[in-house]
Amino acid sequence: MFGLKNLEGVSIYEEKEEKKIPEKSTKEKKEEPLTEESLIYGKKYECPVCDSTFTSKVIRSGKARLASVDLDLHQRYENGIDPNKYDVIACPVCGYASLPSYFGRLSSAQRKAIRENISMNYVAQPATDEKAPIGYEEAVSRYRLALVNTIVKHGKTSEKAYLCLKTAWCFRQEVETFDKEAANYLFRKYQNEKAEMEYLQDAYDGFMQARTGEEPPICGMDEMTLDSLLAALAVEVGDLDNGLRLVESIIRSRTANPRMKENARNIKDIIARKRLEKEKDGTSDSASGEE
Ligand SMILES: [Zn+2]
Repeated sequence: MFGLKNLEGVSIYEEKEEKKIPEKSTKEKKEEPLTEESLIYGKKYECPVCDSTFTSKVIRSGKARLASVDLDLHQRYENGIDPNKYDVIACPVCGYASLPSYFGRLSSAQRKAIRENISMNYVAQPATDEKAPIGYEEAVSRYRLALVNTIVKHGKTSEKAYLCLKTAWCFRQEVETFDKEAANYLFRKYQNEKAEMEYLQDAYDGFMQARTGEEPPICGMDEMTLDSLLAALAVEVGDLDNGLRLVESIIRSRTANPRMKENARNIKDIIARKRLEKEKDGTSDSASGEE
């Protein structure tokens, strides 16, 4: 078919060798300039509150390379790419905002509540550059808007908790963008850590409430995943006793998978270390950030 006949073994080998080199080098070239900007695209939405059509920035996060995952599941990507900033869909006309999985799910009473309590006071936003990355200030205000919407529509506690958690991640990740040499670096870092801690506390309180008041899956998490998250949050906000209770129940559980159990053991070690630190300090509530 390819006219190789009895030479096929040889020519295929050579072709492969030749191909490999340019393929690899173009691949490397392509991967190097991977920026947040190059992953952004506009996605059209129809607002369930005011019926406007608008374009929201979405990020192809599947293309970004994961660098590490924090104790509380916050994902850190290479090149400072942060998909978390793009998760809120906000209507620029009426101010309705939510996470994608909740966006279309509104009862008529909820739509009415949003119109009366948010849209009436909302100043329509001008169109922005579709390709420009979202900054942290904007990301936080989008999360706040989504949170206010969730309060107004009497959304589930878990939805509010999840928004608080994702807001906390914005404050945490923003610190990575600060200039370490700047005179106000420590002050800005302190302010972000303080804001992060407040949102983490709200997320923790909300998820603890949701754990007893809602049926799993809660924000897409089964019982054990939620408990793992809560254990991590307990450590972060300094509620070590509850954190220990949660990890011990995960370690004993028959439904938790080996990865969850290993994670729980890690958290248990962190709790033990924090307790030792506390004893050494002799002071009570000096809840510090994550590990
Ligand atoms: Zn709208």
